[in-house]
Amino acid sequence: MKIKRLLIVDGYTDEPAGLGVPPYIDVYPREAYGAMKLASKDSKVYYFTIDEVRKKFDVYVRKANEADLVLVIAGALVPGRYLGGEPLRDPEELLMLKKFIDKPLALAGPAASMGLGGIGGSRSVKVNVDYRIRGRLSYWIYQAAKEGIDRAEDVMNYDYSFVSRALTLGAEVILQHPNMKLGNLVVEIETFKGCPRRLSGGCSFCLDVLKGTIKQRSVKDIVNEIEALYLLGARSFRLGRQSDILVYGSKEINSKEWPRPDPEALERLMKGIRSVAPSLMTLHIDNVNPGTVVRWPRESEEALKVIVEYHTPGDVAALGIESVDPKVVKLNNLKVHLDEAVEVIRIINKVGRTRGWNGLPHLLPGLNFIAGLPGESRRTWEFNRELLERIEKEGLLVRRVNVRKLSIVEGTKVSKMIDKVRVAKGYEGFRKFAMEWQKRMLTKVVPKGTVLYNVMVEKVVKGISYARAPGSYPLTIEVPSPFPIGKWLRVKVKKHHARSVVAEAV
Ligand code: SF4
Repeated sequence: MKIKRLLIVDGYTDEPAGLGVPPYIDVYPREAYGAMKLASKDSKVYYFTIDEVRKKFDVYVRKANEADLVLVIAGALVPGRYLGGEPLRDPEELLMLKKFIDKPLALAGPAASMGLGGIGGSRSVKVNVDYRIRGRLSYWIYQAAKEGIDRAEDVMNYDYSFVSRALTLGAEVILQHPNMKLGNLVVEIETFKGCPRRLSGGCSFCLDVLKGTIKQRSVKDIVNEIEALYLLGARSFRLGRQSDILVYGSKEINSKEWPRPDPEALERLMKGIRSVAPSLMTLHIDNVNPGTVVRWPRESEEALKVIVEYHTPGDVAALGIESVDPKVVKLNNLKVHLDEAVEVIRIINKVGRTRGWNGLPHLLPGLNFIAGLPGESRRTWEFNRELLERIEKEGLLVRRVNVRKLSIVEGTKVSKMIDKVRVAKGYEGFRKFAMEWQKRMLTKVVPKGTVLYNVMVEKVVKGISYARAPGSYPLTIEVPSPFPIGKWLRVKVKKHHARSVVAEAV
């Protein structure tokens, strides 16, 4: 059967490189939508978020029964709660989506390969669906629409120009996204896939190194996609789907474990985006590999300057530090030692700490730690604590610290090194210390009295409005009065918590 009508249920994705939890939309729904339109202009594609399905299950059942295929996108690999939506994580909930329909169901996103539920120290559960799409989604959907669903195959070795055509045509799906109606939709943009460090085997826990040779999207393809999105009304973008934005466009990307950044290539991309989206509200980045900054300090500084010239303030360079315990660094092939991590944070501060028009520093580092890696001991938490203490002592700024437990993903090196996550003593103490540290840090990042612009109310609970600016790791702002969801506010900071601030509307 050739599919002519597709119903997409977005169960949200959160991967090391890529976010699709509202207000974000990731590449998967855009690819699926675009592939259907590439196959036939007359095809029909409906899009629901999982939160919409939960609210109006009867509408979902009716639409699903009108479609030829239900495509569920899922795989929030990062534990934690989200302000913008609740990901589909429970295998039972996925089965409910199938229970009342007589149409086939396909699963895409990380859950198709890894199952559901495997977060923070556990292994995931495989789920029973009609089709599991592990290859590039646009190829599978295109084949299902053109040749028939049973002839669709997983394509791993794809051509980025086809994917880009699908993404550009698929921009239209944003018109069905609830956050587009609100005005705070952030579109996650893919720039390349894979990690240069695959040449040394990469970090022990990481799946990105298994993606093979790196493919990069051309500036033209990325800019065309952003233009299509912008013309449809999207105003916030994040260059989030890549292992290290600093090395985008580097000619050494497949020949060196640590390619030299090419600031000119990055500038062509950033400039191109600005030229087709002149009134954008947000242009942010995600991952920066701290190992690149240490090995190429001059080129990295230039690349960071390019980002700061063309982006919007409030941006975060997420650094996968994971651990600075030398034993853990060595055993897991991590990226930087303690002194090097401090140097990376110095360089990012030098380029990015000035305050921008929306009240936030331009570009600050975010630090990610992982607990439970092989080699971890009580000493590990002393090394990591020393890193935070040195940052504070030097007066450097950090936007956020994230400490998560290792997830053992099948196929990674760590899955052969250990069978269970064991967190060493000292972890809870470090977490507590990091929370207090973050609270002190926030008082410097957004001191009392700072006015923040362009924050939108996303949730109201017991008379408190929770607002954020669209962007990378946005700060949660609690406003102690109820405002309508979707209201844009200007607020003045009054008080600090570890992960949020209290502010009044002004
Ligand atoms: S640097 Fe390590 S964690 Fe980052 S993408 Fe490469 S292998 Fe994965």
